Amino acid sequence: MFPLTDEQRALRDAARRVAEEAIAPRAAEIDRSEGYPWDNVERLREAGFLGMTIPRAYGGQGLGYLEAVLVIEEMARVCGVTGRIVVETNMGAIGAIMRYGSDEQKRRAADLVLSGDKPAICITEPEAGSAATEMRTTAVRRGEAYVLNGRKHWITGGGVSRLHLIFARVIEDGEEQAIGGFIAIRGEDEGLKIGRREPTMGLRGIPETEIILEDLVLPADRLVTPPEGLRRGFAGLMNAYNGQRVGAGAVALGIAQGAYELALDYAKARRQFGRPIAEFQGLQWMLADMSVGLAAARALVHGAAAAAGSGFPDMRAAAQAKLLASETAIRVTNDALQIHGAAGYSRNLPLERMVRDARMFTIGGGTAQILRTQIAGSILGIRTPQTRDGYLRRQD
Ligand code: FAD
Repeated sequence: MFPLTDEQRALRDAARRVAEEAIAPRAAEIDRSEGYPWDNVERLREAGFLGMTIPRAYGGQGLGYLEAVLVIEEMARVCGVTGRIVVETNMGAIGAIMRYGSDEQKRRAADLVLSGDKPAICITEPEAGSAATEMRTTAVRRGEAYVLNGRKHWITGGGVSRLHLIFARVIEDGEEQAIGGFIAIRGEDEGLKIGRREPTMGLRGIPETEIILEDLVLPADRLVTPPEGLRRGFAGLMNAYNGQRVGAGAVALGIAQGAYELALDYAKARRQFGRPIAEFQGLQWMLADMSVGLAAARALVHGAAAAAGSGFPDMRAAAQAKLLASETAIRVTNDALQIHGAAGYSRNLPLERMVRDARMFTIGGGTAQILRTQIAGSILGIRTPQTRDGYLRRQD
């Protein structure tokens, strides 16, 4: 276990109390109804778990990523959806804006998040998934404004989020400049429309929707520009995604931890052949492997978060952490269901929900394959372009 300070342990214990008292009893109903858990959001807000990483100057607590990870794990242990809400109110879009935004942008974003808004990050498009830089959404400069047109999909929080960080190809004087990130606020900015909702396998309490941009006019000061400038800004803004990845790893880890604990208890309580099933070596080894996987994933997730402090996690560390945590979570939740036999397959217990919820994390926010490619590029010290002509164009 990564060494935690007394304050960090106290925070984790406080999060566990809220999770068990207020969040766990609602988890099955959220999954069944597919409704966004506004009551959980309010509980998280009261407990101070929204915007923990926002600097004090903007009303937050100025805590680091490890603190956020501890809370995320505890929420996800009982409810993956609530874990994701803690991720997105502390990392990702809000992380990018708090790092690179203007004073006004930071103030606005912080106010929204601290009052209960879960920001949406809008990158993916129907023709641009893993190949995110092939996005087609444009932001054309017109005087002191940009006009955005395009279609995003799989946007987490579509229809419930107010704050959006939207990525688009910036075009000025008819020439493409770079991919930039723009702040838009649903309900204030006309032209931001919510499209079809995806019927998802798991994590059903947060909508995944299309976001349709139809002549969305945004004042020029809504562009978030990292210090590297607009031309290199996409890479800078994508650094914020490393934080989101550590957060996603923490949700996967929390879901898996919850499933493992249930399996451990069940194996001791359930009797077959006149003895507890925990006495069968086949199950003992499954439980042992589950505990090893969890410890390894936790070491990487906590390590990546702790090394980041209140900055962004390192790209390789974040990719390694998310990769291991997401693949471990798929295995551990499946094995936990198996240990429960038919009871695990029933919707009366949370195991089948945990299996469905965990399945997402090798896909969203960078697939397991793309993360392996990034890690390979980093350890080999080479670029790994994926287009057919990429090596010809970009390397000696
Ligand atoms: P594709 O890119 O079409 O990939 C299909 C398959 O091919 C995958 O297995 C992939 O790994 C593989 N593949 C593709 N290219 C390569 C390669 N070069 N080498 C090896 N294998 C490759 N996006 C947002 O912008 N905002 C969000 O809030 C958001 N939330 C999401 C929430 C959920 C629940 C999910 C499932 C997705 C979300 N996404 C979001 C989108 C997500 O980031 C993309 O799904 C992801 O980047 C993969 O894109 P794709 O689904 O189009 O798959």
